[in-house]
Amino acid sequence: MTQASEAAEQSAAPIEPPSSPLSLAFSRRGRPTPFGAQTRKPPVMVVDAAREAFYSTHFPNSTAEQWTDWRWQIRNRLTSVAQISRVIALSPDELMALSAKGGRLPVAVTPYYLSLFAAQGPQSPLRRTMIPSMAEFTPSECEAADPLGEEDDSPVPGLVHRYPDRALFLATDFCSAYCRYCTRSRRVGKGPSRMPAAHVWEQALAYIARTPAIRDVIVSGGDPLTLSDRAIEHILSRLRAIPHVEVIRLGTKTPMVLPQRITPALVKILKRYHPLWMSVHCTHPDELTPESAQAFARLADAGIPLGSQTVLLSGVNDSPAAMVPLMRGLMKNRVRPYYLYQCDQVRGAGHFRAPLATGVEIIRSLRGHTSGYAVPQLVVDLPGGGGKAPVLPEYLAGVSGDDLVFVNYEGRTFLSRDPATAALMRGHAEA
Ligand SMILES: *Cc1c(COP(=O)(O)O)cnc(C)c1O
Repeated sequence: MTQASEAAEQSAAPIEPPSSPLSLAFSRRGRPTPFGAQTRKPPVMVVDAAREAFYSTHFPNSTAEQWTDWRWQIRNRLTSVAQISRVIALSPDELMALSAKGGRLPVAVTPYYLSLFAAQGPQSPLRRTMIPSMAEFTPSECEAADPLGEEDDSPVPGLVHRYPDRALFLATDFCSAYCRYCTRSRRVGKGPSRMPAAHVWEQALAYIARTPAIRDVIVSGGDPLTLSDRAIEHILSRLRAIPHVEVIRLGTKTPMVLPQRITPALVKILKRYHPLWMSVHCTHPDELTPESAQAFARLADAGIPLGSQTVLLSGVNDSPAAMVPLMRGLMKNRVRPYYLYQCDQVRGAGHFRAPLATGVEIIRSLRGHTSGYAVPQLVVDLPGGGGKAPVLPEYLAGVSGDDLVFVNYEGRTFLSRDPATAALMRGHAEA
């Protein structure tokens, strides 16, 4: 973290850490055991035993109060070769990439998230998404800094208005952890602080207020949940005051990389602005921990409909072995899988881009084999601002007389009588 952002962070309104060191302890199973806490009830956050061991080893003298404090997690993000190599043995390739100056995207990982892959090798899924490799520096054909053409659909800075009835409000360029395949690497992590200049928000809010067609606002970034409670409440209350804004959505990776942020105080704020939806960026079943489960439970208990967005990543989650448990695990946490994206053609992320056909096969491995609620929609966000295009495996195989021919999830053939549609399809086939 730069000195400027460190300063900005410290000057932000502080969140009080949970009362005294004696007021809570953590059992091995991650269940909080309050003692001596008759008076004040601190925001109890679970700490998994594996995490406890990790923090004790790599952050000596730190306390459970600190581990469970999201500001401590942000302040102690690992950002440099020196910091990261103290915790994991870097491969020569990772070492070279981390040492290279002028990388496209800064490096930052919260202690919590690093602990999820610290014991795993350089090719392990979460490690590949966070620790740069030299492949990042070899852009391939068709890659662009702004592959979705968001800047062309941006009427004011920090706002993308592509679809008629919804707008994307990029409220901050800061994330607690930077994904190496970030579609907004052109802007994230560049500024000196989490808060953009006041006039940026004002312009975006004014645009939304004077555009009655916008009924759904997606607050994203960066990660908007890295903002302070006060800043989040400011944005939400301003949006809620606009009569035509029916729905507010938050786009975030916080429950996966910084679950400590989902405090009772934050949740209390969020639930004042219903209907409020949340889309959570999830990558791999290794992210599903007691900590993230607690974050999801708090959000779901507050009545916030939770959806997931996952990027299909080569060597990370591009197999049913990763994706099936991820989607089932999300559903168990009351998160409805929403989108599975093909990785955008963003500069330096070519090594993460899996073929669309792999995505189709993953959807096939889910559909029929597990709960329909656990099947996300596979989409390609079209280069140049075309928007999201859904892609489905084909189950309708053809026509036979007045019947439609279907092949089910097991590969068996079934007929369904539908003369009108059969005639239409024959017409298409002849045309
Ligand atoms: C994805 C996206 C949205 C929201 O799309 P939904 O399909 O409604 O989730 C809105 N604006 C932009 C620019 C987007 O990329």
